Amino acid sequence: MQNTISNDIEKCVIIGSGPAGYTAAVYASRANLFPVIIEGLQPGGQLTTTTEVENFPGYKDGVDGNQMMMDLKSQAERFGARSLTRIVQKIDFDNYPYKIYLDNGDNLITQSIILATGATAKYLGLDSETKYKGAGVSACAICDGFFYKGLDVAVVGGGDTAAEEALFLSNLCNKVYMIIRKDYMRASKTMADRVVEKENIEILYNYSTKELYGDDLLKGVLLNNTKTNEELDLRVEGFFVAIGHSPNSEFLEDVIELDENNYVKTLEDSTCTNMPGVFACGDLADPIYRQAVTAAGTGCMAAMDAEKYLAKLM
Ligand code: NDP
Repeated sequence: MQNTISNDIEKCVIIGSGPAGYTAAVYASRANLFPVIIEGLQPGGQLTTTTEVENFPGYKDGVDGNQMMMDLKSQAERFGARSLTRIVQKIDFDNYPYKIYLDNGDNLITQSIILATGATAKYLGLDSETKYKGAGVSACAICDGFFYKGLDVAVVGGGDTAAEEALFLSNLCNKVYMIIRKDYMRASKTMADRVVEKENIEILYNYSTKELYGDDLLKGVLLNNTKTNEELDLRVEGFFVAIGHSPNSEFLEDVIELDENNYVKTLEDSTCTNMPGVFACGDLADPIYRQAVTAAGTGCMAAMDAEKYLAKLM
């Protein structure tokens, strides 16, 4: 259900549409807060770029990430939540109720805000990496893996995301190298075991990426062994970066208190930020757990905190 917005003062606007945002919407709508969800550019959030989610309670055979997000959205809409596929450009926190400016020139006035904008994939920061973005470099195997069918590719990173990307690519590509800067993989044991067992995945421990090279398209990567300092020239046509995420908090800087890594700071055991009536949940405020289920849990908390806050205003 895509609704137009009215000129009324909203009770609750939820910014972000991953498991945190949609769960907040389910709870807020069932509490009669009639929430508006501003979905952003990637409705459904990070889980829409994954394949199977195997660790969300209740799905004994796993669930497709996209499907799960569509289900959560429908669940919220069933109770009256409204969604807008728009981007927030600015929030005026100087006056209350708060005013949210959208990219199409519309604005929303609201008594409470739930921030659930999640996090975005990090890149290594090499100039050559930027040069080959979309021409060999990607941060999403699910989105781009198909273009590298039958070819040799590399995945950088040793966490669960990297393991998942490597496994996905191993079913499409000829050979997958995993470039890991330490001498161990940070990924969970189940994922690490699956990677190790896969015949066409080769793990390169103790390697960092020095440079990417090619012509118009990527042709290879120069690696450096962090122990021996030896250089390794890896001929690959795809380079998938899977080294973690940064919180999407840029639009909050200077007003909402952030930690040293730009995650939103919340009060202990609550989702309250430093701004009255503004709550944060999901990966945006979670540098530690960053799971779909924890995001959903804090989404629920944020809606309950918003409800309590609004009740006090009456
Ligand atoms: P993580 O932070 O867990 O792992 C990041 C990996 O990238 C680490 O191996 C890290 O190395 C490496 N890295 C970081 N920066 C660099 C760099 N500049 N150069 C080279 N390597 C680098 O991130 P993930 O995205 O993998 O996972 C985030 C969370 O999401 C985790 O809690 C994970 O369990 C969860 N997750 C769960 C999934 C599932 O269950 N299906 C799927 C995907 C993620 P180092 O170890 O040296 O720091």
